[in-house]
Amino acid sequence: MTCNCSISQAAAAMAATAVYIDPSTRLNGVSTDSRKLKQDELFVALTGENFDGHGFVSKAIAQGAVAAVVSKQWWEDWQKQQVDPIALPMLVVADTLKAYQDLARWWRQQTNLPVIAVTGSAGKTTTKELISALLGCCTQADKRVHKSTANHNNDIGVAQTLLAIDPQQHQFVVVEMGMRGKGEIARLAKVAYPTVSVITNIGTAHIGRLGSQEAIASAKCELLAEMSAEGIAVLNATDLLLLSTAKQVWHGQTLTYGLDVGDVKGELVSGKLQIDEKTWEMPLAGRHNAMNFLAGLAVLKALGLDWQPTMQGIGALDLPFGRAQIHHLTDDVIILDETYNASPEATIAALRLLADTPARRRWAILGAMKELGEMSEKLHRQVGEVVRNLNIDRLIVLSDGEADAIVTGADRQAGFVATCHSHAEITQMLLQEVKAGDRLLFKASRSVGMDRVVRDFQEAW
Ligand code: ATP
Ligand code: MG
Repeated sequence: MTCNCSISQAAAAMAATAVYIDPSTRLNGVSTDSRKLKQDELFVALTGENFDGHGFVSKAIAQGAVAAVVSKQWWEDWQKQQVDPIALPMLVVADTLKAYQDLARWWRQQTNLPVIAVTGSAGKTTTKELISALLGCCTQADKRVHKSTANHNNDIGVAQTLLAIDPQQHQFVVVEMGMRGKGEIARLAKVAYPTVSVITNIGTAHIGRLGSQEAIASAKCELLAEMSAEGIAVLNATDLLLLSTAKQVWHGQTLTYGLDVGDVKGELVSGKLQIDEKTWEMPLAGRHNAMNFLAGLAVLKALGLDWQPTMQGIGALDLPFGRAQIHHLTDDVIILDETYNASPEATIAALRLLADTPARRRWAILGAMKELGEMSEKLHRQVGEVVRNLNIDRLIVLSDGEADAIVTGADRQAGFVATCHSHAEITQMLLQEVKAGDRLLFKASRSVGMDRVVRDFQEAW
């Protein structure tokens, strides 16, 4: 059903001026894409770098939209161009994105379900999926968890998720919030108005834009500053910068979580998580994923839910490609596909996971980590040092200037390091040298396209 209300309620929520609108109209859903628009939905004309939804207003109305939300600027220009204006029903606003967010905020408050917001430098999507799966064990029989799709964590994605809340079907809402700069999380948090706010960690992702880890911590903690006094913060107990920054802006209830530390304190024993006498099988390998799982248990605790129903297993997770993805090839070769993206923390977490994986030989195939600005050289070198300290057997680096510092950190002279200059060169090297029992980790920033190497190697193996 999703956002279902009268057109005048929607207009009031967006502070819009209605033109050619029948006041008895009701809308059933909100769409920003005329190609996917359904009958009786409200069309919002968003403007991006490469598109302008205003070009699709007539098409959307012809397809059954009850009205279009348009900008005042466009509306004035449109009127001037029309010799004999067609009476298209429209809601005119100053800024269509802001109006979309205002409507989302209003709908979120109307439905009044618990909203769990997740941010942090690394692990947001994974934690969002784990929280959703854990909450899924605790819903009433006829209800489910509503969550952000894939990685939709920006201004549009968060509003879209909230507008799709259906109080008839949903019991909890879990939204991911991403950021690249100051003020972005505050904006998203104002829309989502979280009941519980989770911050996974403060790393160095996008440090090129923010300048320092302290600035990243402040930007992430905007989430807490926007929460109501009754909200609950769920924070990584091992991240001291996060905890000290949170304290400056948040004075309400806090639950911390961690391995061997925190209010929700777990221990990893033979790959299983133990808390007091309780034991959980881990759906994803690695200490970082155990932390993400603990964040999920802390959310249940924050909401006063019993952990018992989660102990029988949480079912399959719905992680988008390239995150903790395992490909089993013939001859006992296993790929750990982390090609979706890479920040230094995420790369180090994935390297630790590789080091903990039983194998004949462990390979790390790494490329550049982007948006690190002046810290780039240092952080790439640190990743190289971690590779060496973890005794990874083979390191291949896709050379592009930035990534070469990984080789320096790992020790250029060491026999286990190779530098390649193209995706094809890596594939060739792997095809010649990989043997049964090897485990391969692939990781780099999205734009490096390391997923192409994974695909070509898999196809040719
Ligand atoms: P994005 O900013 O691109 O949306 P994200 O924060 O949603 O990323 P995920 O997609 O969940 O993060 O995970 C990306 C990678 O980060 C994983 O593949 C893994 O290598 C690493 N990772 C996941 N959880 C953690 C964690 N708690 N600590 C450190 N690294 C992690
Ligand atoms: Mg994400």
